[in-house]
Amino acid sequence: MERSLTDKRFFDIEENYKELSSGIAEAAIKCGRDPQEVRFMAVTKTVEPIYINHALSLGLDLIGENRVQEFMSKRDELNLAGVEKHLIGHLQTNKVKQIVGNVDFIDGVDSLKVAKEIGKASLKAGISTDILLEINIGGEESKFGFTPESIGETVCEIAEIEGVRVRGLMAIPPICDDSVKNRIFFENMHRLFIDIGAKKIHNVSMDILSMGMSGDYQDAVACGSTMVRIGSALFGARNYR
Ligand SMILES: *Cc1c(COP(=O)(O)O)cnc(C)c1O
Repeated sequence: MERSLTDKRFFDIEENYKELSSGIAEAAIKCGRDPQEVRFMAVTKTVEPIYINHALSLGLDLIGENRVQEFMSKRDELNLAGVEKHLIGHLQTNKVKQIVGNVDFIDGVDSLKVAKEIGKASLKAGISTDILLEINIGGEESKFGFTPESIGETVCEIAEIEGVRVRGLMAIPPICDDSVKNRIFFENMHRLFIDIGAKKIHNVSMDILSMGMSGDYQDAVACGSTMVRIGSALFGARNYR
């Protein structure tokens, strides 16, 4: 019984992967973009290593975990050769030391303080850490991130920090099943991304615009996302958080 349930989940992940990969490509083509411009990140929070490894065996090469502890406890069991690893959740300053050097990117950088801490830990480790700056694009009180109004100034301050390289932006817009409303947030993000990139700030390159999740990735791709973060549509519903 248990065995067949397991098999079913493997099968589902495979089907979901195929469907999502073509969904992402179609969304790109529909708006005249090259599908290669959009990367598919598998969001692995709460997912057991055996299923993550199955997804990786299908060709995924990019994962995102939310929590430092969870990532560190799972990573030895993961087949991570050639896989780019991102921490995508809110990072507390006291956890920075544990994660620097263990992931390729820290995506949810949402304060000057945490950026400085990442810089410090990176210098100590003799490395430079790639980061994305999180924007609270919906202006929600419950969410972390820089305001769209403040980011222009803040990005210059972060650019001065040794040990970090700003590589782009990420956002989690308000949850909404209205495609028109979703697109307003995504378009605003895209504008910020272009505007900051155009400033050609030293140590800042706008390579990655991480936006779009299971429910809204098509809209995000239509508005210029270069990285969609997909959890439940790939692995199935999470049963906590
Ligand atoms: C959980 C999570 C996702 C994936 O959400 P789904 O709706 O399951 O695709 C994407 N980004 C972040 C930051 C998350 O925490």
